[in-house]
Amino acid sequence: MAAKIIDGKAVARELRAEWKARAGCLRARGIYPGLAVILVGDNLASRVYVRNKVNACREVGIHSELHEFPAGVPEEAVIFRIRQLNANRTIHGILVQLPLPRHIDNRRVLEAISPEKDVDGFHLYNVGALVAGSAVFPPCTPYGVMRLLQHAGIAVEGKHAVVVGRSNIVGKPMALMLLEAGATVTICTSKTRDLADHTGRADILVVATGRPKLVSGDMVKDGVVVIDVGINRLPDGRLVGDVDYESVARKASHITPVPGGVGPMTVTMLLVNTIDAAERDARCAPPAETGCRRSPAITA
Ligand code: NDP
Repeated sequence: MAAKIIDGKAVARELRAEWKARAGCLRARGIYPGLAVILVGDNLASRVYVRNKVNACREVGIHSELHEFPAGVPEEAVIFRIRQLNANRTIHGILVQLPLPRHIDNRRVLEAISPEKDVDGFHLYNVGALVAGSAVFPPCTPYGVMRLLQHAGIAVEGKHAVVVGRSNIVGKPMALMLLEAGATVTICTSKTRDLADHTGRADILVVATGRPKLVSGDMVKDGVVVIDVGINRLPDGRLVGDVDYESVARKASHITPVPGGVGPMTVTMLLVNTIDAAERDARCAPPAETGCRRSPAITA
């Protein structure tokens, strides 16, 4: 069976066009969606991610501001800036680019963000809302995965979903969102005995480990839907996922490529969450004549 490729770039393009129109609806009413990005230190990868986010904002008509701090900045200075941004009515979303330098407590910094502006969905309030089944800002990567499944017409309810990885930003929220959508969910970690025994029973398999080619074709069943979240740079410079694409694609019904699968969706969902925040702030259902819809329910 030749797997259908779930084209994240195409889905992201479509979503961005839709949300660009929604941002336009807000601007027509004098409301400019605004995102503040906080970058601490000079981590090269973080700088690239931030640049991509700022460019993506420009593409859909979100005002973005970059707040940069040197690596040695005291934690309190970052928190002080976040408090200023919380109070700033022109900013609807605040994002702190992770990782932060070791002397800064991630949790304290993330908790300083107002939950109404926490477009990454990492504040404990938003984590709790996700657990309770009423997500406000779903974390962008798993949110993007749910949208990919939806776009590919894959029903989640009643399926056995296996998530490999349990990080706070991908694995755990992913499992919760699949659970909320009606899947029976198994979570695997580095401590799982016989990983293949679990992956082999998945109808939907999401892999987010940072281990290149961890899952191979002999570890999955025919017809599985495979979402590869991993992004790994090999010594030869190639970018690969956590799934051995060639062998798995021979058995899967659907698969995401790396690059071009989940990656483009992550930034797109940040844009979605930011415009959503601006819409909520404006308490606006866009006027019917604009042809704009209100935010959809956050489900698969
Ligand atoms: P973390 O390192 O935070 O978490 C990795 C998880 O994988 C851990 O829970 C770990 O288990 C588990 N794991 C590691 N090795 C194994 C193994 N052999 N078998 C089973 N589970 C294993 O990574 P992230 O969640 O932040 O990221 C995962 C991958 O996704 C990375 O490649 C990252 O670059 C990519 N990523 C991609 C994004 C995108 O937009 N496409 C966005 C975010 C991340 P344990 O907890 O037991 O240690």
